[in-house]
Amino acid sequence: MKKIIIAIDGHSSTGKSTFAKAIAAALGYTYLDSGALYRAVTLYALDHGWTDPEGRPNAPAIIDHLKDIRLSFGKDPATGLNRTFMNGKDVEELIRSMEVSRYVSPVSEIPLVRDFVDMQLREWGKKKGIVMDGRDIGTAVFPQAELKIFMTAQAEIRAERRLRELQSKGMDATFEEVLANVRQRDFTDSHRETHPLVKAPDALLLDNGNMTVEEQLDWFKKIMEEKWDIRLK
Ligand code: C5P
Repeated sequence: MKKIIIAIDGHSSTGKSTFAKAIAAALGYTYLDSGALYRAVTLYALDHGWTDPEGRPNAPAIIDHLKDIRLSFGKDPATGLNRTFMNGKDVEELIRSMEVSRYVSPVSEIPLVRDFVDMQLREWGKKKGIVMDGRDIGTAVFPQAELKIFMTAQAEIRAERRLRELQSKGMDATFEEVLANVRQRDFTDSHRETHPLVKAPDALLLDNGNMTVEEQLDWFKKIMEEKWDIRLK
């Protein structure tokens, strides 16, 4: 079968990465997390103090140093999943902190940061056979993607999921804090000038508020069968 690009976009904490990893495994494709790259640039900015307490990033300083940031993914031999590396260091855990989550949307609003990340993503996409998730994959990074899916769910359900994820990693946060962050990121992502979060007209909508991961996979398998005549196990 010809390898394709599957673009998965949607609101924060809709379980895009869980879904994307599951379908990548079912197809034997590579999963790439575009948000991880924005998070890594944000971590770099935080490490260098290029942010203020109001949550504003110092855009000129970040732009000046983009050339010093090398991003890559490396396979974890134990899980077979990709981990994010920045300048040769494994930053997979560090980029998931609440601190990075607070600053990542304003950092990702900077047009040159978006160009920097997009260039990297397009390079990796050349090989095809990838499932990539983010906010603008089907609209800006790979508008030619053969299959686009837009994921959403009610904000409270998403905050609950995100809180459980943080707690399972031993990170401290309250439901209110996480809900406020989810809402703030939805707003910033949907209202920025460059590549705002919108559903591509040709994207399929997946509202997974009341769906288990298995049900989402069944939904996907049905689409593969109906649209592409591909039967997945
Ligand atoms: O996917 P994740 O929530 O980890 O992404 C972190 C942040 O990076 C998002 O809230 C969004 O602001 C930004 N992002 C983006 N475009 C993408 C992926 C992520 O603006 N393609």
